[in-house]
Parts: sequence; C-alpha cells; structure tokens
Amino acid sequence: MSNDRVENVVIIGSGPAGHTAAIYAARADLEPLMYEGFMAGNIAAGGQLTTTTDVENYPGFPEGIQGPELMDEMRKQSKRFGTRIKTETIAQVDLSQRPFRLQNEAGDEVRTESVIIATGATAKTLDLPGVRRLWQKGISACAICDGALPVFRNKPLVVIGGGDSACEESLYLSKFGSEIHMLVRRDQMRASRIMQQRVADNPKITVHWNTLPVEVLGNDLVSGVRAKDKHTGEHRDIEAGGLFFAIGHQPNTAFLAGQLDADEVGYLKTEPESTRTSIEGVFACGDVKDKVFRQAVTAAGSGCMAAIEAERWLAERRS
Ligand code: FAD
Ligand code: NDP
Repeated sequence: MSNDRVENVVIIGSGPAGHTAAIYAARADLEPLMYEGFMAGNIAAGGQLTTTTDVENYPGFPEGIQGPELMDEMRKQSKRFGTRIKTETIAQVDLSQRPFRLQNEAGDEVRTESVIIATGATAKTLDLPGVRRLWQKGISACAICDGALPVFRNKPLVVIGGGDSACEESLYLSKFGSEIHMLVRRDQMRASRIMQQRVADNPKITVHWNTLPVEVLGNDLVSGVRAKDKHTGEHRDIEAGGLFFAIGHQPNTAFLAGQLDADEVGYLKTEPESTRTSIEGVFACGDVKDKVFRQAVTAAGSGCMAAIEAERWLAERRS
C-alpha cells in the first residue's frame, strides 16, 4: 500500500539517537515520521536502554534514571513537538531513486526526501545455561554502562572476549572489582598491542587463554562462571559476582542490503564530523555508525547533528 504524500524526513529507529533527531526535526517544522521498530534487532522500541535498569551517566538525572523510563520520556518529548510514530519495522529500502522508498514488514510503502538511520547495534551475547535467568542480575553487555553499579563493587568479575572492547572493559572494571578474569577463546587476543599491554600490566587482571564459558552459576545473582579449557576439555568454576560479554556488536543494517557504504562488520560510514552517508539526503546517527563510544549521550548528540544536517540539506535543495 502506498499514498501520495512525500515525507520531508523519515527517522528509522527509536533509541536516544532517533528520538533526539525527532525532537530537533519536529521543532524545525519538518513533521518527521518515525518508525520505532517492532522488536527490530531483537530490541523493543526505545532501543538498548530498555534492556537495562539504572542509567547513571546521562546528564540531567543526578540520582540516575531507569533505562525504560528515560526512553519513555524521550518518546513523549518527540511526540510533544508533533513527531508521528509508527510501531513498525522498516524491512527494506530503495535509495536508488528520489524520493526514497521505504517498506515496512507488511509491504506498506512510504516515500521521503530524506532519511535518518538510527537503528543502533545489538550487543552479541551467548545463550549459555543461566544467561536468560540471570540477565540483569549480574550479567551485562556493557561494562562502561553498568560496571560502577554497587552490585559489582569489590567482587571478582568475568569478562568474555579478547578484542579491544574486552580489554577496555576489563581495565575499566579493574577500578571497581576485586579481580578481573578475562576468558579468551584462543591463545592470542584480537585486541591492539597497546591494549593487550595495558591488560598485561594490570595486576588485577588474569587472562585465561583457550577458555570458553559454558554456564553461568548463581541462584538470585551471578555467583560464578563454569569455564572449559578448549584443549583439555577440563571444566572449572571461577567465582564471580558479575559477567560481562564483550564479544562484539552487530549494527542493525541488514535491511539496507548494502546500499550505503559500511565497514566489514556493517557499521555505516559517515563523513568526518558529520552524519552524511554515501548517499545524499541519507544521514546516520548513533550506534549504527559508532563502534567506539556507544553511549546514550553520544548517540543523542549525533541524532541532533543528523536532524540539523537533514534540515539544511532539505533547505538547500528547495532553494
Ligand atoms: P538503540 O538504542 O540501539 O536503538 C535503536 C532502535 O532502532 C531499537 O529500538 C531498534 O529496535 C530500532 N530498529 C532497529 N532496526 C530497525 C528497523 N529496521 N526499523 C525500525 N526500527 C529499527 N549507555 C549509556 O550512556 N549509559 C548506560 O548506562 C548504558 N547502559 C546500557 C546497558 C545495556 C544493557 C546496553 C545494551 C547498552 C547500554 N548503554 C548505555 C548503551 C546505549 O544504550 C546505546 O549507546 C544507545 O542506546 C544507542 O542509541 P541508538 O539510538 O543509537 O540505538
Ligand atoms: P572484536 O570483534 O574486535 O572482538 C571480539 C572478541 O570477542 C574477539 O576476541 C573474539 O574472539 C571474541 N569472541 C567472539 N565471539 C565469541 C564467542 N562466541 N565466544 C568467545 N569469544 C568470542 O569486537 P570489539 O567489540 O572488541 O571491537 C570492535 C571494534 O571496535 C574493533 O575494530 C576495535 O578495534 C574497536 N574498538 C577500539 C577500542 C579502542 O581502541 N580503545 C575500544 C573498543 C573497540 P576471536 O578473536 O577468536 O574471534
């Protein structure tokens, strides 16, 4: 189904990046249309913060705020200025013709002059026994976000992964935990040399090479991780009050079917200090284009940039 209307700007995604873009675009009278997603990338509308509890580092909330509540407030603010929100997922796009054409999962089409992509990235986790039961009860996929919470303080902690994220998160957690155990599945790390050296120099971090997690232990809270030596098959239990996955993220870009320039993992490429993508009139913001910072406040900041850039691009095109 299609209608004759051509939108000024369609925002795909509803995390901090999408909602900030919506607030700016709506206040600029662009009447934005947002597709907030329906369990897109396995995340509820509102994005990754809907999967967490306390958010203590988003400015303006000195006592912290619950992730779902923060996203509800952002949604209200988007709507207050007139953003129209559809609880639908964009399944495919055609960026080869103008206006651009976007289709939801039911095949309904919308046409638009510009697009802001704010579809985020999904942290990879492992579906080990105990993970679903103890999720948010000592298990996290973001040490920088959750590591400083009281539940993790002065306890032994486990980090899974051997990339730069795993190193960075282990170093960060070493400020709070009593000792950090990194489980690396091979006999070497993927991380850069400098990060590996920092890990090696930190007396609180122990690296367990060739080690795979097989189960998360604990009743109400995480109490340990059962690990397996890849070569001998031997199991052993590591006492831990927290488990952090740092095995990479998957940006939610499959629906773009390669129409925009992206890196080998799928992160969208944008021009330096800009949200402009490889196609004029298409802007990308938040975690879908950011594999370095991945924070709510940086996502919100780039959402603001995308809306301002879209507004200027539309104005230039029409003048
Ligand atoms: P996201 O929040 O990922 O939102 C993207 C949205 O787009 C999702 O709702 C998704 O369903 C939707 N979507 C995807 N594809 C489509 C599609 N095709 N059509 C329509 N919709 C689509 N950061 C902090 O600053 N502080 C914290 O305390 C903190 N805690 C965290 C705790 C956890 C457990 C996790 C996983 C992350 C945490 N983060 C935290 C990181 C923060 O959540 C992210 O950096 C931020 O949410 C990224 O915002 P975003 O708008 O780019 O994308
Ligand atoms: P990476 O893909 O680089 O690393 C993922 C790590 O997780 C690898 O060690 C990988 O092992 C391991 N892993 C993957 N799947 C599993 C599994 N099923 N079980 C156990 N271990 C697993 O992701 P990162 O998030 O670390 O980094 C992403 C990008 O961001 C990189 O380009 C990185 O350089 C960059 N980055 C840079 C930072 C910095 O410079 N300070 C900080 C953070 C990220 P294996 O190697 O065997 O595949």
